[in-house]
Amino acid sequence: MQPKDLLQLVEQFGSPIYVYDAEKIKSQYNRLSKAFSKVDKLRINYAMKALSNVAVLQLLKEMGAGLDTVSIQEVQLGLHAGYEPEKIFYTPNGVSLEEIEEVNAMGVQINIDNLSILEQFGTKHPNVPVCIRINPHVMAGGNTNISVGHIDSKFGISIHQLPLLVRIVENTKMNIVGIHMHTGSDILDIEVFLYAAEILFDAAKNFKDLEFLDFGSGFKVPYKKDDIETDIEELGKKLTKRFKAFCTEYGKDLTLIFEPGKFLVSEAGVFLAKVNVVKQTTSTVFAGIDSGFNHLIRPMLYGSQHHIENISNPKGKERFYSVVGYICETDTFANNRRISEIKEGDILSFRNAGAYCYSMASNYNSRYKPAEVLWMNGKGHLIRAHETFEDLLKNQIPLPIEATTV
Ligand SMILES: *Cc1c(COP(=O)(O)O)cnc(C)c1O
Repeated sequence: MQPKDLLQLVEQFGSPIYVYDAEKIKSQYNRLSKAFSKVDKLRINYAMKALSNVAVLQLLKEMGAGLDTVSIQEVQLGLHAGYEPEKIFYTPNGVSLEEIEEVNAMGVQINIDNLSILEQFGTKHPNVPVCIRINPHVMAGGNTNISVGHIDSKFGISIHQLPLLVRIVENTKMNIVGIHMHTGSDILDIEVFLYAAEILFDAAKNFKDLEFLDFGSGFKVPYKKDDIETDIEELGKKLTKRFKAFCTEYGKDLTLIFEPGKFLVSEAGVFLAKVNVVKQTTSTVFAGIDSGFNHLIRPMLYGSQHHIENISNPKGKERFYSVVGYICETDTFANNRRISEIKEGDILSFRNAGAYCYSMASNYNSRYKPAEVLWMNGKGHLIRAHETFEDLLKNQIPLPIEATTV
């Protein structure tokens, strides 16, 4: 996608918009498959919470991906996009027994992440194939907001509770077919990943009828120039070797599963917004865009750095700007960032906007959510329209006139 293509898409569809490059999603998918091509049974389940547009789900389905879902609604969207129930995994946390039962009845693979529900489910449905989520207590990355394997994390069944877990499984005679871990986003160091994998292998030996091991995700992708990223190829080499050795020891060829979100879609996306106002203050120059954290919350929520370019003036002289939004709240996208000279009306492009951007958007300040465009074969396909005023009113029930005086 060239800047001129992106500018043309803004002309055509208005701003702000999200644009996703189908080629990039495909190349990331192929890169991961290739890194693990020596594993006989490999499954890549796309963690759809990263970007849940149905067209993107269809695209990944065509590539051969399964789905990783965290809510019954995501399961329904996956089925709607045409995924077979057997290709869908359900890895929620803190949901009710009823929801787990409902998803199970749809033919989807369930994954249970706490002992209370495990015991209740196992007692009622001993024959259902169940996966269990282990928390190996391994800290991935440095930001506790996005690490889910450490000691204070609410995710998974603590590895230290393994004896009780085994007892519950024996007592209920339930059918454990898989072990899962997901140590959270941003794994910088593959040694950490391999260390967590060893814990999973050890836990797996306690269960005799496994069919798969699910290593979750958390692969880091570069956000800035020279940023570090997970060395997928190196991980592929090392984990494949270790996984094969484990299968031999276990006496069965298991399926190896990954469930990447960010890795597949982050770099494929850009967010395009228009500069409404350039405002000089005593301390900085603000570029105020027609968006805010209602459309892209990651900088405010996680302190994420999304690289910003002025695609209307890519060759312009660089100056320092604070890029901010238009909602009535502090919504800073970038502080004191070098960007080529900005004029009002220019289009800024935010990189790495494929994962956890649109899917976290809201209607705060009663603003419409942006449109989404899929860039395929040199052409932009609108895959979600801009919202309209009707969308804001949908589901709202005004009081009858006579009841409006208190
Ligand atoms: C969010 C999530 C993922 C995807 O994580 P990424 O960092 O986007 O790759 C995978 N598995 C589970 C269970 C998740 O909750």
